[in-house]
Amino acid sequence: MATEKSPAFVNARRQLQQALKKGKVAHAYLFTGGDEEARIELAEYLAAVLNCREPSGEEPCGCCRSCRQMAGGNHPDFHLVRPQGATLKIEQIRELERRLALRSFQGGARVAVLAGAETMTEAAANCLLKTLEEPPQGAYLILLAKRPDLLPATIRSRCQELHLKDEEEEAFAGINYWQRLMGADLRAMAQEILPDLEKEEDLKGILEAMSLACRDQLVWQMTGTEKLLLRPEGFLPSSMTPRQLWHCYRLIQECRAAVDHNGNRRLILEALMFNLLEIKTGEVRGDSYGYRRAL
Ligand SMILES: [Zn+2]
Repeated sequence: MATEKSPAFVNARRQLQQALKKGKVAHAYLFTGGDEEARIELAEYLAAVLNCREPSGEEPCGCCRSCRQMAGGNHPDFHLVRPQGATLKIEQIRELERRLALRSFQGGARVAVLAGAETMTEAAANCLLKTLEEPPQGAYLILLAKRPDLLPATIRSRCQELHLKDEEEEAFAGINYWQRLMGADLRAMAQEILPDLEKEEDLKGILEAMSLACRDQLVWQMTGTEKLLLRPEGFLPSSMTPRQLWHCYRLIQECRAAVDHNGNRRLILEALMFNLLEIKTGEVRGDSYGYRRAL
């Protein structure tokens, strides 16, 4: 794990660490988003830490027998199943279930990873469903899917989903939120946009993308030069003045910092919402940083 990780990967791993810390690791996960390599790496991380003899916090030690076997790709209780040809077949699921039904070799967790889970045949999915309903003691199933929408709903609903959102996707989500917020009144903000934002796994990343969208509008208002835009694709100019946009930019940055310090999400987002309304309606008074007090 020496190479630099994408923010999506780090964020997903942090969520697994929280679950480990609380002793609330699910017995079935569905990892989506990102690329297959990152999804496999995340599954390997979970398997390693579940089986490590001497984990430090929520990190595998990297030295014990289990960790060395994981690193060497020969851990007897770790099973990575990939599609045979174009699909994951029922024989593969049956074989996996046989292995999971055995006692673990080293007394730890048995972890099965199904790569390309969305390629599962209908028969394979039906077979897997039974294991998902009643996973053997000490067994963990991790499904990896690029297109989770192709999985049967019965499978999907039995897994805890963890999404590795890639940066491009996140940037556009941020721009989209920003444009929605700009066009919304208080009711739409409170009833539609805020609940969506609150559910975002990587709220900090979304706020970062929102501040860049706002920054682009500010730069456009001041220079009218497309070359200076960071995200020319999807760019829409704003009707706000540069001064208002500057206030918005500072406000989003403050919210991002508050999220980073583990502030209460709802309170942070409500502060964002009310302050944005104030700025939009031109009610920012002489005290230009008054909004900071709410955060
Ligand atoms: Zn270890």
